[in-house]
Amino acid sequence: MSGARRHPVTGKKDWLHSKARAMVRVYVAERDGARCHYCRTPFPEDLVGATLDHYVPYSLWPMSKPRNLVLACAPCNNAKADALPLTLAWLLLTADQALYAPAA
Ligand SMILES: [Zn+2]
Repeated sequence: MSGARRHPVTGKKDWLHSKARAMVRVYVAERDGARCHYCRTPFPEDLVGATLDHYVPYSLWPMSKPRNLVLACAPCNNAKADALPLTLAWLLLTADQALYAPAA
């Protein structure tokens, strides 16, 4: 890859400035622990190999703030791609059932 990093979905350049991205990685590592959010593989102190993953896919919620970012190893990030996290899908289904459940 050459030049500015492009967002994997939108193709936008510099979706998060590289220096800012490095700072966000450190912030997220301090918040969640320096490990992959999905497979729990620990990252080294310098976070080599850690990528930022949009927890809710960017295509659904275009939010690149830390509250929607988790650390992921490259295999997990690639495997997840634009899929909805299982826990979020479960929450949405639960909320949906609660909305339409007959009153007890
Ligand atoms: Zn992983």
